[in-house]
Amino acid sequence: MTAVVVVGAGPVGLSAALALRARGLPVVLLEADPKDRARPGSRALFVHRETLALLDGMQPGLAGEITSYGRTWQTKRTLYRGREVYARTFPAPKGPPPFTSLRQVDTERFLRAACERAGVEFVWEARVTEVRTTARGARLTCADGRKWNCSYAVAADGAHSAVRRALGISMEGERGEGFHVVVDVADTPGAELPPERVFHYEHPGVGGRSVMRVPFTGGFQVDLQCRDGDLQEEFGTEEAVRRWLPAVVGEGHGDRILWVSTYHFLRKVAASFTDPHRRVLLVGEAAHLFPPFGARGMNSGIADAAAAADAVVSGVVEPFADVRRSAALFNSEAAGTALDHLRPRRRTVRLRQRAAAALSPVLPWCGEWLEHAPYGPRHGAPVVAGGKY
Ligand SMILES: Cc1cc2nc3c(=O)[nH]c(=O)nc-3n(C[C@H](O)[C@H](O)[C@H](O)COP(=O)(O)OP(=O)(O)OC[C@H]3O[C@@H](n4cnc5c(N)ncnc54)[C@H](O)[C@@H]3O)c2cc1C
Repeated sequence: MTAVVVVGAGPVGLSAALALRARGLPVVLLEADPKDRARPGSRALFVHRETLALLDGMQPGLAGEITSYGRTWQTKRTLYRGREVYARTFPAPKGPPPFTSLRQVDTERFLRAACERAGVEFVWEARVTEVRTTARGARLTCADGRKWNCSYAVAADGAHSAVRRALGISMEGERGEGFHVVVDVADTPGAELPPERVFHYEHPGVGGRSVMRVPFTGGFQVDLQCRDGDLQEEFGTEEAVRRWLPAVVGEGHGDRILWVSTYHFLRKVAASFTDPHRRVLLVGEAAHLFPPFGARGMNSGIADAAAAADAVVSGVVEPFADVRRSAALFNSEAAGTALDHLRPRRRTVRLRQRAAAALSPVLPWCGEWLEHAPYGPRHGAPVVAGGKY
């Protein structure tokens, strides 16, 4: 019997495999896709300091590798209808940076190389379709009939988790109205945009929709908040992006678009993070889905992965399931607060934002509030929220 099988080689499954190897356990990682797959887009860009510390605990030096490739910008700016209401430039960090920004595909590249160094056994083109558990272990069956018996399985098979569905565990929560558009644009050599994160409320160039620009290594991501009733073809196709992008970042970037995607706002948490026999542990998007603002998805998924490895080693799964579910509920709530601010349903929220923008030249805390609010409560970092993990 294999000690532990991890299902899914996304950032969370790779982290789980690495964390298990760091604790000395043999690990088989089953991935549905082929070995040479291409993963799309920047997606989760932002890797928090706490996540970097967890990854370094899994393989010393890994955080340094990731941060020396990623970007840490020092300037944050917020604008409201074309006028700056907040700007701050922080000194260069002396020690580990507070975060690093790189495309998810690059984070996965570092994690996969770390797993290979650590001796994780990868099995590609292994799509898990069935799961059975007993008090002694789990049996996973793949679409092609291959079977894997293990003491524990860590399910990191993403938002449409087949493992979760096979166990009959439901997702609880809601799907919000509307969508936002995510665009990756490659830097123009010699004419790179300033390395700063910019949030613009009610940008006049895109009909008063809010826009964020975030740098990553080699380019930048632009997020456009669409309104309820906006059509995908008006904002969310590459052709549509070419139309509105110049108003947001200036001319000359349209032919450097790398990826365009639309993202719906889901706030869902699994009813349980484990099965009744406590042999399968759900982690990452198999267990929770949050809107991206606040960078809670991948970061809290990596915290799940570290906690799952501890639980497997100790053989005590229930506290993992409780603590990480509490963390997910906290993050879901926090993401909801951010969303209320980003897509105000109540007139009073818009009025408060307008008043804060008007007062920011004389009351700097108003500008600070506008700067921080789109990411949700700062209290309880996504990684640690809900308990010691
Ligand atoms: C279009 C898009 C845009 C996004 N934008 C952002 C963003 O802007 N900011 C942000 O923070 N987050 C964003 N996210 C979310 C972020 O990408 C996720 O939080 C992150 O990928 C979760 O990692 P994961 O490892 O849990 O799942 P995934 O990355 O989904 O990995 C799951 C893995 O499991 C494999 N798999 C699936 N089913 C099976 C099976 N049955 N058997 C074996 N393997 C299986 C998949 O092939 C995949 O490799 C975005 C996601 C998408 C799809």
